[in-house]
Amino acid sequence: MKAVRCNICARDFKTDKLNAKIRCPNCNSNDSFSIRELPVQWDGNVLKKLIKDNKFKITNLSLYLCVTRQSIANWINGMCPKGMHLVGLCRYFDVLPEVFFTEKTERR
Ligand SMILES: [Zn+2]
Repeated sequence: MKAVRCNICARDFKTDKLNAKIRCPNCNSNDSFSIRELPVQWDGNVLKKLIKDNKFKITNLSLYLCVTRQSIANWINGMCPKGMHLVGLCRYFDVLPEVFFTEKTERR
């Protein structure tokens, strides 16, 4: 998801389209935009749900990733895993990395 500002009418909106296909919902311009990726944050609940839904064992996952069970508990509780472990998690669950991240809210 991207945050987009139309440079014609200065309206802000969100889109997940490719740059070339963006059209301003306000003035219908497809001319000039300022675009940035929206910040995202690790969401441990996604990992928790994947383990539960697939009936995986945390012990097996910890062996697969060569980490302690405590590390996995920390990830479930909101600590973001290091890149190599994130790649391992994606392979283990056969998912894309972005499923583990949610859009950052302005709260806290
Ligand atoms: Zn516009």
